[in-house]
Amino acid sequence: MSSFEILDRRFKSYVLFNAGLERIADGCRWTEGPVWFGDADCLLFSDIPNNRILRWIEGVGVSVYRQPSHYANGGTRDREGRLISCLHGARSVVRTEHDGRITTLVDRIGGKRLNSPNDVVVKSDGSIWFTDPHYGIAMDYEGGRAEEELPCRVYRLDPGGRIDVVSDAFACPNGLCFSPDETRLYIAETGRLGDDSVERQISVFDVLDADSGRLGAGRPFYAPSVGAADGFRCDEDGNVWTSAGDGVHCVSPEGELLGRIRIPQTVSNVAFGGRHRSRLFICASHEVYAIYLNRRGAPDGVNRRGAPDGATRAP
Ligand code: MG
Repeated sequence: MSSFEILDRRFKSYVLFNAGLERIADGCRWTEGPVWFGDADCLLFSDIPNNRILRWIEGVGVSVYRQPSHYANGGTRDREGRLISCLHGARSVVRTEHDGRITTLVDRIGGKRLNSPNDVVVKSDGSIWFTDPHYGIAMDYEGGRAEEELPCRVYRLDPGGRIDVVSDAFACPNGLCFSPDETRLYIAETGRLGDDSVERQISVFDVLDADSGRLGAGRPFYAPSVGAADGFRCDEDGNVWTSAGDGVHCVSPEGELLGRIRIPQTVSNVAFGGRHRSRLFICASHEVYAIYLNRRGAPDGVNRRGAPDGATRAP
């Protein structure tokens, strides 16, 4: 039986009738933060409660990339291809250099510790945008309980090191993603742990000033009918492929649900990868899945449009 559920005829051209869902990893506790490395032909992903980052290679399987990982959650690559990671344990955003050293990019603001950075994207200008909800310090399972010193906010880290508050309008901001042309930013609200009073949904913001991170007023974009949107990525046409409680939902730029990929576990996050960025990697509870699509992921980080892979120049 196909894993695709077509709800809008446009979705038919996005999927492949003969592509099946493949389970590529299992035995984890809670997978997150998928990042594709085309140059190493591998996927890295976090297994947060097990305090490790794992590496999957086609035909080889899964091995440990880093343990302890300081309870790493979301990840991405910067314009030089370096891994950028959100760490619950160290309450920081870090960069893995080409020689393997790890550089802390930010762990405090005004002398106060971040909560537990959750998800991160890199814009074409090299700025790093990340969310800082409380989940990693609200429980021992994904980090360790600790006091909150700062509100839960969204930040932009300038390549020069300056940090700006992008939004403080969220109870707990989670996943985030730019539209392919970077004129819009999508941010998910997933609410504070144990508090169901906040609507769990993705909002969309116009990027008014990318240099300072100033956004327009947020508008509701999409709320899954089952579960919540944790992490998501755009395809080349600007559709948002988001995690949900029953799989992956494909949502048009106008916020219409076009179709679903049914997954037997709760999905946390997705990443496009493979030689053509047309393979969707799906972190889902204890497992990781992959499925080929007839759409490519929008370039981000290392392969942002206009820059050759691995480019070190600013656009
Ligand atoms: Mg997340």
